[in-house]
Amino acid sequence: MKRKLLQNTGKTMLALGLVAMLLVSITGCSKKNTNTTAEPSAVPTESASSNNEGASYTAGTYTATVTGMHEMTVTVTLSETKILDIQIEHKETPGVGEPATLSIPAEIIETQGLGVDLVSGATLSSNAVIEGVTACLKQAGVSEDGINKLLAIAKITEKAEDQLLTADVIVIGAGGAGMAAAVTANQAGKSVIVIEKSSKMGGNTILSGGALNAVDEGSETAIANKDSVENHYNQTFDGGDQAGDPVLVHTLVDNAWSGVEWLMSLGMKFNEKVFTVTGGMWPRAHKPVEPEGTGFFITYKNYIDTHTGITMVYNTTAKELIVEDNVVTGITCIGETGNIVTAKATNGIVLATGGFGRNVEMRVKYNEITKKWPTLDESIPSTNTSGITGDGIIMAEAIGANLVQMENIQLLPLGDPKTGSLSGNIEHAVESRIFINLEGNRFVNEGGRRDEMTLALFEQTEAKMFIVMDSDTYPEGTELNNFGESIADLVASGRALKADSLEELATLMKVPVDSLITSVKDYNRYCQGGDQEGQTDSFGRALFTDTDGVNNGINDAPYYATVRVPTVHHTMGGIQINEHAQVIDTNSNIIAGLFAAGEVTGGIHGTNRLGGNALADTVTFGRIAGTSASEFVK
Ligand SMILES: Cc1cc2nc3c(=O)[nH]c(=O)nc-3n(C[C@H](O)[C@H](O)[C@H](O)COP(=O)(O)OP(=O)(O)OC[C@H]3O[C@@H](n4cnc5c(N)ncnc54)[C@H](O)[C@@H]3O)c2cc1C
Repeated sequence: MKRKLLQNTGKTMLALGLVAMLLVSITGCSKKNTNTTAEPSAVPTESASSNNEGASYTAGTYTATVTGMHEMTVTVTLSETKILDIQIEHKETPGVGEPATLSIPAEIIETQGLGVDLVSGATLSSNAVIEGVTACLKQAGVSEDGINKLLAIAKITEKAEDQLLTADVIVIGAGGAGMAAAVTANQAGKSVIVIEKSSKMGGNTILSGGALNAVDEGSETAIANKDSVENHYNQTFDGGDQAGDPVLVHTLVDNAWSGVEWLMSLGMKFNEKVFTVTGGMWPRAHKPVEPEGTGFFITYKNYIDTHTGITMVYNTTAKELIVEDNVVTGITCIGETGNIVTAKATNGIVLATGGFGRNVEMRVKYNEITKKWPTLDESIPSTNTSGITGDGIIMAEAIGANLVQMENIQLLPLGDPKTGSLSGNIEHAVESRIFINLEGNRFVNEGGRRDEMTLALFEQTEAKMFIVMDSDTYPEGTELNNFGESIADLVASGRALKADSLEELATLMKVPVDSLITSVKDYNRYCQGGDQEGQTDSFGRALFTDTDGVNNGINDAPYYATVRVPTVHHTMGGIQINEHAQVIDTNSNIIAGLFAAGEVTGGIHGTNRLGGNALADTVTFGRIAGTSASEFVK
């Protein structure tokens, strides 16, 4: 094998970017040029090359409107033989859908073809751009046959030489846990290489709602909410049916707030108010000011840009851990061009490759153990980005790591029916909304555990429900959800329903009017104080009115609804670790040199993870893994 030794230059090959699950549909096309003389017969002739010499277009500028996360306008300028320019007007989230609007047009122009690489994790966003360009080309006279030929034209990349990379600490996976580990190791004076299989940092973390549970013990907020670290511990441990490792649960809750302080010390900003995230059980979620999970990566990128010693290696997939004399010393990867990239660590290796929500085979296999869910086959969508396929778990198992609680797979009742994504969700906090089935009835405690809510949803007609809210959360209509979507946008695009009365809303939802009105009235009764001590309704719901007292029932028109389905969200099982993030083998021994953090690990959240606890997990155990890997000496 030919290898090239690369020194760690401390330079970053960083492209902050990422993922969003985007609904793509052409919603309208308009032709800007008025040249009507050409027949729609142009057929490009080249295939599988980067030189589309046979193309023939009706020259001009064409425009198509498509929908990614938000509506985008694609404008293509053509000569008679070439795609000259592509402009995209969009509102895609920076670092999430945005990268697709940059790289895809550039590659189309470079190759003069449509067989471009989708931006991993931003599949639907990428597709929206391609759909838009395709629509424009059709306006310019390209036939279906011609489009198919353009789709066959792809970039040909030569295989690069194999590489050997070295650093003090190697981190695998550039999501939340991986980047927390990388920055922590660097703060400890170590050189770090981060291996990431996609083209950007972020993983599921950048897609997340950003809700991070942490209790600032004794603070005004904690006192006002009657909250404490012990309360957080009890809810986490009990919420997971006491199946989590108590030591790991304590490590998580005891260090969560110092993780928030650490992020703030790096420049990350959070909203002042805490809130209750779905399945979070209590108002202790800290919400970053930036949308979704982008704030974490703006912070980590800023750190990398202003410090030396962290090298990001993208488009490189870790395949196999290297073990020498019973110590994990490195990782073998497949590079962007199919070349072998070997990364060796002077100190430790951190596995932070996330869970297996997008590995259908694994989730079906492990669901068989308890059969908790009716099915987890491909008919059940996922909130996760496409690369979350359990790679780290498979690699660790192959060298003897113990896997724990793999059957504990979390679903949410909040998926978009088409994509499984949480985008399009109209809720802002648990207290302000109810779930309504297709018969117009409530069916579960909407402030309860995620698994109970989703199991209840599976039992409803078509396993579908509506989230129903009033306008308290939307005084202006322009307020944004976690995905940067306003309720006005969602209504305009048909993803949410809006009505001036509950009768009208029921008609739009196609549910019985009487049932909806009765359900809302009954719910409102409890919001006004209820008629039982402790405000517990027949479903056991305790969370009714938010701390401001603003969401005091569903009684202020206009009313809103959006349809939702079960979606695979989080995998609680994974690699066994101890409180130092050291990986444990099947004989209960520590595997020297190997550390793990984040969703790749198991045994913290038990059977059911509380909403907001996973991001706390990434920061807490990411930092611990970064420290432990830095301190490890062979
Ligand atoms: C839509 C959504 C919303 C969520 N909202 C919240 C929330 O508000 N609060 C909360 O607490 N939790 C939330 N979660 C859960 C939480 O975001 C995740 O559990 C957490 O971000 C996982 O972080 P991680 O660092 O372990 O993995 P990730 O952030 O998923 O990162 C893993 C990285 O490893 C890379 N990788 C995988 N395999 C390889 C390989 N073989 N080689 C190299 N790289 C590899 C991936 O490409 C990815 O970049 C949400 C999850 C989703 C999907």
